Amino acid sequence: MTRVLDRLKRPLGALRISVTDRCNLRCGYCMPEDEYTWLPRASLLSFEEIVRLTRVFARLGVAKIRLTGGEPLLRRDLDQLIAMIKPIPGVREVALTTNALLLADRAERLKRAGLDRITVSLDTLQPDRMAVFAKSTHHGDVIAGIDAAIAAGFTRLKVNSVVVRGYNDDEIVALAAFAHGRGIEPRYIEYMDVGGATRWRSDDVVSREEIVAALEHHFGPAVPISRDDDPHAPAERFRFADGVVAGVIASTTAPFCRDCDRARVTADGTMFLCLYADQGIDLREPLRAGASDDALAALIAHAWEGRTDRGAETRLAVGDRGVLVPLQGLRADPRREMHVRGG
Ligand code: SAM
Ligand code: SF4
Ligand code: SF4
Repeated sequence: MTRVLDRLKRPLGALRISVTDRCNLRCGYCMPEDEYTWLPRASLLSFEEIVRLTRVFARLGVAKIRLTGGEPLLRRDLDQLIAMIKPIPGVREVALTTNALLLADRAERLKRAGLDRITVSLDTLQPDRMAVFAKSTHHGDVIAGIDAAIAAGFTRLKVNSVVVRGYNDDEIVALAAFAHGRGIEPRYIEYMDVGGATRWRSDDVVSREEIVAALEHHFGPAVPISRDDDPHAPAERFRFADGVVAGVIASTTAPFCRDCDRARVTADGTMFLCLYADQGIDLREPLRAGASDDALAALIAHAWEGRTDRGAETRLAVGDRGVLVPLQGLRADPRREMHVRGG
């Protein structure tokens, strides 16, 4: 295994693989529009192609794989892909980020395939809110999906909630109580001005300070948990007086780019070095043109070694922040969308 460092001495350690750009939800902070430009079907990587790239990334030091989307459970036979990725030398962990709408029927198969961890995105406990904000009446399926994952034996579950002012900021405590009651760790994500968040306004961001204050008000004083065992983890974790442990991902008000070891590959095989990057690196073309593993490894290593990206920190320095990518820009290049990059 070769260790690859970028220009800021950050190792390449984790890979988020988006397996589809399609989604069965329309969260207001991610896919608020009525119409989208989809990736051409022929451009989507096959499982064999994804596995080949994963092998090459693992050779370069990637130990953690996270499957994402769009909604990854919309990709047929995802459990087969997991079973193919899991034995790759160097891969220590395979995780999934999902909205859980389709999880109830799949949880057991995913567990059997070797999936290590699941993060479920759940922003509200109120079905009518989800109907308005994410345009889905299937809130009950999400809860059933979470319970099925617990029943299937997933022990390191997390529930992620993006907190948006005026939508779910009054549910911070309720979401923690829901998760804690099921032995799950709740995590709160600050609303980010990533591509696709065409309704983003700085006033709608609920900051880490506000989130922790709301939790402390209910659960008692917070003590930060050391990140020594996982220095590249995006969440800051806190233990509250009555035993609740919660994480906050302060990507907007206190970004953590200096520790970022994550590369991303979209469903069409484009590598991104940062969630905020304008351009990606096409891995599909060389892959399909017959490039050797060594040639692909050299391409990826070269890109990573030139990496200086600190997207969220750079955005923080912008005084009057508006929408990052206007709608025309997203239509022209859907790879700038969060639901294509995979979050
Ligand atoms: N569909 C799956 C899901 O929602 O879990 C996986 C893909 S989704 C793009 C991955 C993560 O990105 C989710 O946890 C979602 O909440 C987060 N996300 C999307 N748009 C966001 C935004 N504008 N700010 C912060 N997080 C966002
Ligand atoms: Fe919501 Fe995830 Fe779908 Fe985006 S990709 S709309 S965050 S479920
Ligand atoms: Fe990493 Fe870019 Fe996110 Fe910073 S903004 S943490 S560099 S992906």
